[in-house]
Amino acid sequence: MSVTKNDTTVLKNYINGEWVNSSSEVTLDVPNPATNELLIKVPVSTKDDVDLAVAAAKEAFKKWKNVPVPKRARVFYKYHHLLTENHEELARLIVQENGKAYNEAYGEVQRGIECVEFACGAPTLMMGETLSGIAEDIDSEMFRYPLGVVGGITPFNFPMMVPMWMFPLAIACGNTFVLKPSERTPILANRLVELFTEAGAPKGVLNVVHGAHDVVNGLIEHKDVAAISFVGSQPVAKYVYERTAGEGKRVQALSGAKNHHIVMPDADIDRAVQHVMSATFGSAGQRCMACSAVVVVGDNDAFVAALKREADKLNIGNGMDEEVLLTPVIRKEHRDKVLSYIEKGLSEGADLIRDGRKEMSDHPKGNFLGPTIFDHVDPEMTIAKDEIFAPVLSLLRAKDLDEGLEFIRRSRYGNGATIYTNSAKAVRKFREEADAGMLGINVGVPATMAFFPFSGWKDSFYGDLHVNGKDGLNFYTRKKMITSRFEA
Ligand code: NAD
Repeated sequence: MSVTKNDTTVLKNYINGEWVNSSSEVTLDVPNPATNELLIKVPVSTKDDVDLAVAAAKEAFKKWKNVPVPKRARVFYKYHHLLTENHEELARLIVQENGKAYNEAYGEVQRGIECVEFACGAPTLMMGETLSGIAEDIDSEMFRYPLGVVGGITPFNFPMMVPMWMFPLAIACGNTFVLKPSERTPILANRLVELFTEAGAPKGVLNVVHGAHDVVNGLIEHKDVAAISFVGSQPVAKYVYERTAGEGKRVQALSGAKNHHIVMPDADIDRAVQHVMSATFGSAGQRCMACSAVVVVGDNDAFVAALKREADKLNIGNGMDEEVLLTPVIRKEHRDKVLSYIEKGLSEGADLIRDGRKEMSDHPKGNFLGPTIFDHVDPEMTIAKDEIFAPVLSLLRAKDLDEGLEFIRRSRYGNGATIYTNSAKAVRKFREEADAGMLGINVGVPATMAFFPFSGWKDSFYGDLHVNGKDGLNFYTRKKMITSRFEA
């Protein structure tokens, strides 16, 4: 099966403008989650491979930082064109390696392209600030400069969007980059770098080193890596944040989530159900902005019944098949972990009103699990607290909005939260008091666009400056202040 242009049995790294074999003999399989057919193998690269990539990026930085900003931006105009031209192929690659539905993958590619649009604005973004007359005959100016070599480490669930949060803006700002894609969805990264090279990126500006922990640690520890952008699960995000900060480096680490959707008694039930269904079961619940807990306010059994009815009708299958919403989870091992969470929910006394395990035998080859819904979940239960990252939904019952907001406050995570209501008063209270960084008002997946920060709170984010928007710009640049005296 041909998955990329440089397809061989083992994926190659991309270092200094060339496809090279990893120095490691160790590989991991990359199967299609819908069929478990082997797509390709990914090398578990070593710190030696990291050294080569960082050396190439360091050398490329010497020239790239001095390329005029409008010229750097022009590479991204070309890149935008190429990504748009290859939109469908990129989406198909995502379905193959990640398993999500084609229309979701298509949307993900669009989200990635929007990051490139933002990076095209580099000349405006990179502008500094000036003030004449800070004292007699004295002016002040602020200029922005890139940091140097930046390392990016990404998760399996958005093979396109998450890398695109990182390298386009970093590189447009004048940095050079070493990307370590998820070893579970590594294929797309090679196509992204191929197109970036076609767009005119000089060698060494973007490098890809495949692998796992050793590559991550190699990047963190390398003296020539100035900053790390990380997106992944909570324990790893905290580890990467602490270790990188300990090295005295700049770091942003986006982490796990448990997003609550509050359904108020006045909400339009059909619409709320439609949004909850897609936010919960889209991408098999493997989104950092997935809905994994619904707070049902009041005695709204009609909402619960309608949700269950829709869940029973859900199309389950291979993401390449039309009209499929519920696709497989990433690996069999992950599904096993999810099954143990279902057992835990039962043993802790939650009410399993829809058991997705019964659909597993309909799709024996892939890592499928049907829509699973627990009702009357207590906020202290494990299934209410942990990120399960699967099509498993907890329904919590609250007597009023205050209690619903309290459930959100008690969660260690704070990526997103949504309210369904027609009450302006409830909306305002929710906006002011919900303890999360990205809120939806009658919006199921309130993920921000590239010109705003992706703004998780609490254990959903470690660092100061988020990805995207002005935060991203500030993360990838450092400022220099000039104070000048103009005497006769
Ligand atoms: P993961 O933490 O398993 O892997 C992320 C990256 O870290 C991978 O590149 C992996 O190779 C590396 N890694 C894993 N374990 C490591 C270790 N012990 N030491 C060093 N490196 C290690 O995450 P995942 O399962 O690929 O992705 C899903 C997670 O990412 C979910 O928790 C999800 O919420 C989160 N996520 C968060 C956001 C956000 O914006 N907050 C966005 C997307 C995904």
